[in-house]
Amino acid sequence: MPAIERLSIVVPVYNEEENLPLLHQAIRSAMDVLPWPWEVIFVNDGSQDGSGKVLETLAFTDPVHVRVVDLRRNFGQTAAIAAGIDHATGDVIVLMDADLQNDPADIPMMLEKIQEGYDVVSGWRVHRQDAYLTRTLPSRIANELISWVTGVRLHDYGCTLKAYRREVLTGFKLYGEMHRFIPVYAHGVGARIVEVPVCHHPRRFGKAKYGLERTLKVILDLFTVKFLNSYANKPIYLFGGTGAVLIAISALLLVYLFVRRVFFGIGVLSSPFFQMATMIGILGFQSILMGLIAELLVRTYHESQGKPTYTVRRVIRNGEEERISINSH
Ligand code: UDP
Ligand code: MG
Repeated sequence: MPAIERLSIVVPVYNEEENLPLLHQAIRSAMDVLPWPWEVIFVNDGSQDGSGKVLETLAFTDPVHVRVVDLRRNFGQTAAIAAGIDHATGDVIVLMDADLQNDPADIPMMLEKIQEGYDVVSGWRVHRQDAYLTRTLPSRIANELISWVTGVRLHDYGCTLKAYRREVLTGFKLYGEMHRFIPVYAHGVGARIVEVPVCHHPRRFGKAKYGLERTLKVILDLFTVKFLNSYANKPIYLFGGTGAVLIAISALLLVYLFVRRVFFGIGVLSSPFFQMATMIGILGFQSILMGLIAELLVRTYHESQGKPTYTVRRVIRNGEEERISINSH
């Protein structure tokens, strides 16, 4: 396994002025004992408090390590994380929150796992310090659901503190609230994933930006993720499969009506079952047609961008190992 060469820590920031100096200190103390060069990329996501000024000061007092990406307005945590990843130069990228709820002291232990050969090290807030009814409980249910639907069993999708090999982060774009699904995408491209318990502290300064409403968004995102992960290359299997089932149901109904007509003389056209059979049958054909359109879209996607339908971890050539970035295909 290739060693770590450089580490990037990506931190989205939205109104966290009191937390930032402490966080910077904590990251420094955790990183300074490590042998690798490192940087921390603070992405200021349109903060309205003094975060921008504080970040500027940090960037000038610790120019070797601190990078600041200033977004023009508030785009949301996921977009901020994506901006940070785009500016990161490390071959290992750690994501974490700015609010001191995640602890940088956990990072060295996570990097050990990366060195063991894992591509994704997922933090798990075993003792989570958030409101139980509005945050911890819904999140536990969401985690169960995501694990079950995607087949990627993790206890804590919502924990931002996770470490990634660069190449599993660069092949796709992040939309909506989707940063929590990065491990699922990574799994889809064949990443090795491990889960480690991490510390979690209560928020001391500033406010939490989310409440219960986020759970709904997460569940909607889950549909997209499941579809993209399981059927992005073969949508006709999903649509066509659904269509086939519907047409079969419709055919069974028609057979039933026909038998009734022959043996009991009950009229077919006047029966509500006939209308049902027609509707279900039409839906079935529509579904298959949608599948065909989706197949066209898939071809456009892969062929217009030269994207292959597989991902390569590494190539060994002339006795030398080359790691392949997922979007460099
Ligand atoms: N955040 C952001 N943009 C936003 C909302 C939040 O960059 O629009 C950042 C925020 O500053 C923090 C992280 O995302 O670093 C997580 O936010 P928060 O702590 O409010 O979420 P929670 O930990 O409660 O899930
Ligand atoms: Mg938080």
